Amino acid sequence: MSRARVVVVGAGPAGMMAAAQAARLGCEVVLVDEALRPGGQIHRQPPPSLAGGAVSAAARPEAERKRRLFDRFARYSGSIDHRPGTSVTAVYGLDRILIADETSSQLIRADALVVATGLHERVVPVPGWTLPGVVTAGALQALLKGGRVRAGDRIAFAGAGPLPLVAAAQMVEAGATVPVVALLRPPWSPLWPGLLRDPAALWAGRGVLSEGWRWLSVLRRAGVPVLTRHVALSVSGDGAAERLVIARHDGHGRPVPGTEQRFAADTVAFNHGFTANSDLARMAGAETRFDPRRGGWLPVRDSDGATSVPGLFVAGDAGGLAGGLAAACDGAVVGAAAAGWALHRDAGRFAAQAATDRAERARHWTFQAALAPSWELPPDIHALVTPATVVCRCEGVTRARIDRAIADGHDGLNGLKRNTRAGMGSCGGRSCLRTLAALAGPRGEGEAVNARPGIRPVALAALANRVSDESVGS
Ligand SMILES: Cc1cc2nc3c(=O)[nH]c(=O)nc-3n(C[C@H](O)[C@H](O)[C@H](O)COP(=O)(O)OP(=O)(O)OC[C@H]3O[C@@H](n4cnc5c(N)ncnc54)[C@H](O)[C@@H]3O)c2cc1C
Repeated sequence: MSRARVVVVGAGPAGMMAAAQAARLGCEVVLVDEALRPGGQIHRQPPPSLAGGAVSAAARPEAERKRRLFDRFARYSGSIDHRPGTSVTAVYGLDRILIADETSSQLIRADALVVATGLHERVVPVPGWTLPGVVTAGALQALLKGGRVRAGDRIAFAGAGPLPLVAAAQMVEAGATVPVVALLRPPWSPLWPGLLRDPAALWAGRGVLSEGWRWLSVLRRAGVPVLTRHVALSVSGDGAAERLVIARHDGHGRPVPGTEQRFAADTVAFNHGFTANSDLARMAGAETRFDPRRGGWLPVRDSDGATSVPGLFVAGDAGGLAGGLAAACDGAVVGAAAAGWALHRDAGRFAAQAATDRAERARHWTFQAALAPSWELPPDIHALVTPATVVCRCEGVTRARIDRAIADGHDGLNGLKRNTRAGMGSCGGRSCLRTLAALAGPRGEGEAVNARPGIRPVALAALANRVSDESVGS
């Protein structure tokens, strides 16, 4: 008879800890990740040939967290069936999970499925955002961490929350010139009221705060102007990004006339927060709720990570932005619950095994709750999306086209998608669905978009080359 099996999707901090915990508790564990090495977004690893190199003072706390995470994972990694370079592209049920690598595909089964797929970046589109040389702040980090590549010499940043600051400081340390970091509001200003009300949150977040301070010091030493209460108006250039135009905003996101400033740059990096990768959980039938600060459409889950679908669990940032430290603790908690379900149909069976992680997670969650308002966008920010601006870059759909569809009564997100094709391209709506929802108003954000099989691009050859399926059913 086969052992009780836990399948974990995503080998970031949450997935690594969920897999290690389930293996420790006696389950057969399959850990699937499209990346070639574990670590997820925050601890993305380069290929071994590029590993090593000096770690700066500002980067040391992250390196230390990474070391602790990998040490803990290493204790159980020998008994985990890790499948790198492999995507989960559809979940038809726990007995029919479609995975694919470059050359083959397979249906596998799970007694418990943990979705630990993290999140992706959100960008508010402005004229010129599709020019070559415009990227997301996290993409710059990914190239630097995963390939030791600095994608740009003169890089201007704009957006919301702390990521543009951190990424800008990392690019400075990598040798780039940063002419400006333009933020919608100071990420620290919404933080203080929450932290002063709740000293426990302040204490829990002291490490993250001091790390943020170190990155800010890097920017200050390099003389980088950090302009808060500013919006990006446009990117322009002759066939590629050459300058970023910003202006002060009125507190609601509307530019104040006469305050425009231009910054020459060969690369412009945006980040306006994050969207949870909840599509696999939604495809499996999990209920969702909308939370604009913590990642949009989030699977409804209990404190064990259990969703409305029996046996389906969500761990880490896929359940809402809470940072890498919380994600690792959450993974350990959810891994124990998934093991309890897989072995005994009782998610609470091993709760005591994860008590320390549960307590630590609570501390990180308290701090992150205080930080969450820094990702709230001003209410009129989408007024910057001009009629000619492309909103869905995969299908080339402009704001004017979307406005026409809304005027024709297609104000629900799925109706807008069907009517305009926005969100139906190869990125699966990753870059446009939040904008589409915001333009559509309350109905847009209230309605979770349907998640269709093929959420990650798969080669036809891989689909045709099906390795012996483990599934039951048709
Ligand atoms: C672009 C970006 C930049 C960030 N930068 C910082 C930073 O500088 N500092 C900081 O403190 N925090 C940063 N964060 C937040 C931090 O990365 C997260 O809080 C943390 O990594 C969450 O861990 P996780 O395990 O939940 O998800 P992740 O670390 O995101 O891991 C998710 C994993 O799931 C995999 N995956 C997703 N979908 C599939 C699929 N369908 N099939 C197979 N595998 C899949 C991905 O390859 C990834 O490895 C960043 C987040 C993002 C998205």
